[in-house]
Amino acid sequence: MFTSDREKNCIFCKLIAAGDSEFLYEDNEYVAMRDINPQAPVHLLVMPKKHISGLNDAVGAVTGPAMDLIRQLAVDMGISESGYRVIVNCNEDGGQTVGHLHFHLLGGRRMKWPPG
Ligand code: 5GP
Ligand code: ZN
Repeated sequence: MFTSDREKNCIFCKLIAAGDSEFLYEDNEYVAMRDINPQAPVHLLVMPKKHISGLNDAVGAVTGPAMDLIRQLAVDMGISESGYRVIVNCNEDGGQTVGHLHFHLLGGRRMKWPPG
């Protein structure tokens, strides 16, 4: 199933391969799960199943459908109208800690700007 050491060592690839029952959403291409360390009442991680290291390696064919899915999840979570924030942390200065492309969907509280 795994095609490289990078994927073998990736915690998100492991969760996806295990078919985590905690997934809020799953289709052939994407999964969504709650963040293990939530920073807001709603904090989901939306990601492609395919291992892509980060935003620098992502093409529009991946990010476009992810955004469509995120919009729908915001509706499903009841935060579409109150508002929400979508974040992609990229590489070290961006604060990325897991090297598998993922989108944070945060809502359920008033966000601050600028982010830290
Ligand atoms: P990053 O810092 O790379 O943008 O975001 C990684 C996120 O993954 C963090 O918010 C962290 O709490 C979350 N996370 C790390 N390990 C796990 C895990 O095993 N399960 C879940 N659901 N979230 C995780
Ligand atoms: Zn991965």
